[in-house]
Amino acid sequence: MSDFGTTAWGRDWQRLAEPTSLSRPDPALPRARSLARHGHIHSVEMRSGEITATVEHNGTHQVRVEMPTWNEHQLQYAQHVATGGSDDLSDAVHTALVHNGQPPGPEQNSITATCSCRSRKRPCAHILAVFFDIARHLDHRPRLALVLRGMNDAHPTTTTARIPIGLLDPAHFYE
Ligand SMILES: [Zn+2]
Repeated sequence: MSDFGTTAWGRDWQRLAEPTSLSRPDPALPRARSLARHGHIHSVEMRSGEITATVEHNGTHQVRVEMPTWNEHQLQYAQHVATGGSDDLSDAVHTALVHNGQPPGPEQNSITATCSCRSRKRPCAHILAVFFDIARHLDHRPRLALVLRGMNDAHPTTTTARIPIGLLDPAHFYE
């Protein structure tokens, strides 16, 4: 039972951390889950095509994830199917995007993830921890998945969309 990826939106990122193609679990996963569960991920920022965050674990590490954005046509389609919804987009919107050939979650081989730590292992536990943290954010605010793909979030449909992610209480997510 996972507390990350409770929606289709978050599951995309939980699967980036736990790809089913792995023959055995990544030994860094328990550490990564623990870091994400216990609030060690800070200053998370999600923008068009980019995520930045810091991870506290024997020091402070800067994690940066880059991913492809959608073209104008794809953004218009996403705007169309997401219109009128709140931040809490249903899994049906996710399904519509997948069927249109534009899955919201990035392909494993389409993203670039870097960390400032000295571990030679990539992805390190910090990058994996950020994937879990993003999964949780998207479970609660699916619309952020569209922001990552380049959708303009300048006109949030609810007031909660104005709260910077860093100000959300991590404990709230575990209720
Ligand atoms: Zn690292």
